[in-house]
Amino acid sequence: MRFIDSHAHLDMLPHLDQALAAAKEAGVEQIVTIGVDLESSRAAAKLAAAHPQVFASLGLHPHDAEKADEGYWREMEALARRSRPVAIGECGLDFYRDLSPRPAQRAAFARQIALALELGLPLVVHDRDAHRETAAMLAEHDAGRVGGVLHCFSGDLELARKVLDLGFSLGVTGVITYKNARALRELVRLVPAERLLIETDCPYLAPEPWRGKPNQPAYVARTCAGLAQALERPVEEVAALTTANARRVFALPRPGEA
Ligand SMILES: [Zn+2]
Repeated sequence: MRFIDSHAHLDMLPHLDQALAAAKEAGVEQIVTIGVDLESSRAAAKLAAAHPQVFASLGLHPHDAEKADEGYWREMEALARRSRPVAIGECGLDFYRDLSPRPAQRAAFARQIALALELGLPLVVHDRDAHRETAAMLAEHDAGRVGGVLHCFSGDLELARKVLDLGFSLGVTGVITYKNARALRELVRLVPAERLLIETDCPYLAPEPWRGKPNQPAYVARTCAGLAQALERPVEEVAALTTANARRVFALPRPGEA
């Protein structure tokens, strides 16, 4: 089986070479590594340039929205224009932890939607306890023109319908394997299968049986198995499907064609 890890933070992994080797061994043929601020976006661009199977998404996480001034944005935008990322983000709203003031989160999100539209790139969106407003901002700023993914989807069916209507896909993490994730397992069955991506969000959210331990791209195979179980479909089929979905959303080349 072949997999794509559609959301990893490779710059946060302590033993990157080992993790990339383990990913290859597990059949993970491509990885999208995600920037959360200027520094990690630079690291993501560098990793993508160094490894043919790695692709970068550049952005500013809502947790850090407050630290961006005009100069910060100009550097981020210049990096995005010259380093050919496959997406913009992760960006979005986090009203659960509220680590940056909400007006700063909204401004950073809007700015990144505008950048994605300018560059014609999909968005990697983070939403935690901000379902209505995330969907409203995506609609209001016409983000459906580029689409993308709501990563680590934690919303309900109402949000899923809204963002699916805008053309977005939903990212499924190792959470799908957790005992208490029954609502998510029920929700994925109601989503068109061509809109489901799998991701690790490593080093966070390791699937069972590694819950609570550091996550890595190789474990996306386990998340795929968990999704297949929830969908009651063969894991081979779900692997092929989610790989095709991620390749389409991020316009990734087939391995070897890059
Ligand atoms: Zn993330």
